[in-house]
Amino acid sequence: MNTCRWITVTASVEETITLGATLGAHLLGGDVLALCGELGAGKTAFTQGVARGMGIQAPVTSPTFTLINRYTAPDGRILQHVDCYRLGNASLEMWDIGLTDLFAGDDVIIIEWADRISDLLPPEHLYVGFDYLDEDRRRLCFRGNSERHAHLIGAIARQQLPNSA
Ligand code: ADP
Ligand code: MG
Repeated sequence: MNTCRWITVTASVEETITLGATLGAHLLGGDVLALCGELGAGKTAFTQGVARGMGIQAPVTSPTFTLINRYTAPDGRILQHVDCYRLGNASLEMWDIGLTDLFAGDDVIIIEWADRISDLLPPEHLYVGFDYLDEDRRRLCFRGNSERHAHLIGAIARQQLPNSA
């Protein structure tokens, strides 16, 4: 399989948001981002950046109680922000149907705690792992398995972060 990988460290929440925005500018309907990492690792901050990069003005907050928030970009792209943090096993079957519809659609999908629905994810998804290094630094690991993902990873990797050498 055609796999690609890129690892970077952000030194502030602003850097994580900027990275998300760079990616967001390149996303198209049908792209699925699977974000994994502990509480406070930066998944929502990254999502806020993705929304910003898509031109979405509305404030993006974690859809912890609604499970899914939907935003429309000025150019018509739709961002579906899913948060599986509170998804229990009991509700998983119910959500299976909703998620299948979601993945069959043509929206940009970003999923926090994607490891909780790993069996339901479409095979082609761009994985982003977040590791807490210290108060201000997070390690982000991007992993993809298609030409499309290689293109997206290339686009963000080319964007120099202020702290990169
Ligand atoms: P999650 O959605 O993974 O639970 P959040 O994005 O909600 O995490 O929270 C991340 C927290 O960590 C925020 O309070 C943010 O200000 C802080 N933070 C500090 N450094 C970073 C960084 N480099 N990247 C992202 N968030 C950071
Ligand atoms: Mg979150």
